[in-house]
Amino acid sequence: MFLRIGLTGGIGSGKTTVAKIFELLGVPVYYADEEARRIMNENEELRLSIQKEFGEAAYKNGELDRSYMASNVFQNPVKLEMLNALVHPATIRGATNWMREQRTAYAIKEAALIFESTAAEELDYIIGVYAPVSLRIKRAMERNGVSYDEVLKRMNNQIDEDIKMKLCDFIIYNDEQKLLIPQVIELHQKLLRLAEEKPLSQS
Ligand code: ATP
Repeated sequence: MFLRIGLTGGIGSGKTTVAKIFELLGVPVYYADEEARRIMNENEELRLSIQKEFGEAAYKNGELDRSYMASNVFQNPVKLEMLNALVHPATIRGATNWMREQRTAYAIKEAALIFESTAAEELDYIIGVYAPVSLRIKRAMERNGVSYDEVLKRMNNQIDEDIKMKLCDFIIYNDEQKLLIPQVIELHQKLLRLAEEKPLSQS
């Protein structure tokens, strides 16, 4: 029956790139980080809690002020954890509701943080996208136009990549050694088979 799949990986691992390939195969994808940004802007209750915790200035013209958050929250692990504790329940609920609406054999939730919250409990299998740290730093620096130190700081807010990969059920290697598309197609076929084998009572 229907499977709920998580897709995760560290900064610059290529999880969004992998998610787009799954989308090309007709698999619906919920982009949790994008959704979190939307929810932080649109959910009034959440906005008030964020302002209470981090100050009125956390919002500018009704939208989360990302440069304020970058200098006052994102780089402080304790504050970042507090922010995640406020935002994660809303995005997890959003993903759960979205999953219920899907009519395909399986659907994917793409998120940087899955094991760091309770999100994994809501998923049947989790795919990890792996790339070596040096490559991830290079990709993130090029894409975001940020410094080496900046990327490293952000990486330090996520759990160790090797531990994360051990917790995953499947791994896609995006290390520029193995081709990406054949790996995604092979996994897609495996997930279709697993969805078929999953007993009705579990879905
Ligand atoms: P983040 O969590 O930082 O958003 P991510 O894991 O979603 O990152 P992507 O956005 O998919 O990663 O990829 C990061 C950057 O690296 C992008 O600019 C992407 O185009 C590039 N990239 C990813 N995989 C490859 C690849 N196999 N070959 C070349 N460039 C790649």
